[in-house]
Amino acid sequence: MVSRTIPVDPFDLVLFGATGDLAKRKILPSLYRRFTAGQMPTDARVIGAARSELSQDEFHTLVRDAIEAYVSDTMKDAATIDAFIAQCSYIAIDAKGEGGWEELKTSVRDEVVKAFYFSVAPAIFGPLAEKLRSHGIACENSRLVVEKPFGIDLETAKKLNDDLAASFHETQIYRIDHFLGKETVQNLMAVRFANVLFEPLWNERYIDHVQITVAETVGVGGRGSYYDKSGAMRDMVQNHLMQLLCLTAMEPPAAFDPDRLRDEKLKVIRALDPVAPKNIVRGQYKAGPDPSYLEDAENPDSKTECYIAMKVCISNWRWKHTPFYLRTGKRMSKRMSEIVVQFKETPHSIFDRDEGSTANALTIRLQPDEGMDLSVTIKEPGPGGMRLVNVPLDMSFADALGPDGEEIPDAYERLIMDVIRGNQTLFMRGDEVEAAWAWTDPIIDAWEARGDKPQPYAQGSSGPEEALAMMLRDGRRWRDLETG
Ligand code: NAP
Repeated sequence: MVSRTIPVDPFDLVLFGATGDLAKRKILPSLYRRFTAGQMPTDARVIGAARSELSQDEFHTLVRDAIEAYVSDTMKDAATIDAFIAQCSYIAIDAKGEGGWEELKTSVRDEVVKAFYFSVAPAIFGPLAEKLRSHGIACENSRLVVEKPFGIDLETAKKLNDDLAASFHETQIYRIDHFLGKETVQNLMAVRFANVLFEPLWNERYIDHVQITVAETVGVGGRGSYYDKSGAMRDMVQNHLMQLLCLTAMEPPAAFDPDRLRDEKLKVIRALDPVAPKNIVRGQYKAGPDPSYLEDAENPDSKTECYIAMKVCISNWRWKHTPFYLRTGKRMSKRMSEIVVQFKETPHSIFDRDEGSTANALTIRLQPDEGMDLSVTIKEPGPGGMRLVNVPLDMSFADALGPDGEEIPDAYERLIMDVIRGNQTLFMRGDEVEAAWAWTDPIIDAWEARGDKPQPYAQGSSGPEEALAMMLRDGRRWRDLETG
């Protein structure tokens, strides 16, 4: 299967925060990869902006270094890198100052798509948006991309929405959640809504439960004191895991259209029950072999969680008795993100069930090795009688996309191209973000009021024992991070 590349319209992309970590690690390399794929037109331009006074040559060196560091060797070619860099330029601008805005105004073209990417701290989203408007740089057709975190609670998210709304219409705002740009996540929608096979079974009658896991092996060292103000609930659950839950749980939208899809996601968030304390386990990794969370956070009294597991229930007809178990954590045994839709056992088995569960499971892997597999029960091959065995029907996208090791585009590549195309489907709408915070805030407020302390867990494990116990209490078990 060969993926098709359709070039986007010519554009000017102004990248605020062009000297920052995200720009260097993700955004500039993603643009380069789209350039090599022929998707970025030769008259498209990338204009970097930040406070640092860089010459054009210095910025070009920054872009070259980013490509060298973060693009695979097979995609690097001196002539292509030079051609890409020739389309990049730089303007020194302080979001809160006056310098640089007139130069930016004369640099961006009115006749092409204009996109402004705010890869900067949220505190300067408002000032940047206001400057773009007051200097007449943004127009009705301009697009605005904003990075996470979108607020730290409902109040701050509302303030950010208000600040952006003062200068841009909601249809111009693209709130990035890079999980939504993953091939697998979009395939979840294709599998659900383009096949007759799953949707009739996609409900509490046939699905026992859903597990959503985002496990990381890294700790928070290096940015521990920053992370300690946030924690896993704010950093991962309110946005990434919530989005995965919504796409798994939502009703079929009437059309694959940004607002209809986001309306359905919003309905799911609004149907989430409050979560009782017994259905939440929070954790912090202990020391060994690396420093503990408390050391990494430089806060020996920290009550912030870097691991969380929760049982989440959705009060609607489809999901009334089917819980969603969410977990995410740092310094776990494996870096892995997946959604597992665990179907029920057959109502009656004519076979001997001694060999354990034969229930089907659909696993949607986001990383590593993006793909899906459906475990089905078949007869063990051979003459040894009627023994049953669970086997995966495996669809790894890297294999399916083939040929010659063609790479699956990074989520950022897809999302940036969607911005240029003017397609908001894979971006969060303002009311969605606010609804997610409205569900999250009381949960956090409650554990803060109780003074709950996270449970310690060993590095390289699957999290605190209490999280295993929470599942066992329900007669279920977490999927093994190593073996599935
Ligand atoms: P960073 O490395 O600290 O970079 C911040 C950028 O903002 C720099 O280019 C900085 O350049 C610029 N900047 C700061 N103050 C400015 C001002 N007043 N006017 C204009 N430019 C200003 O941060 P980052 O890691 O790239 O993150 C950027 C945003 O993406 C943040 O909202 C972050 O939460 C989000 N994000 C980051 C990651 C990641 O992996 N890094 C992942 C997801 C989301 P100067 O100092 O030269 O002005």
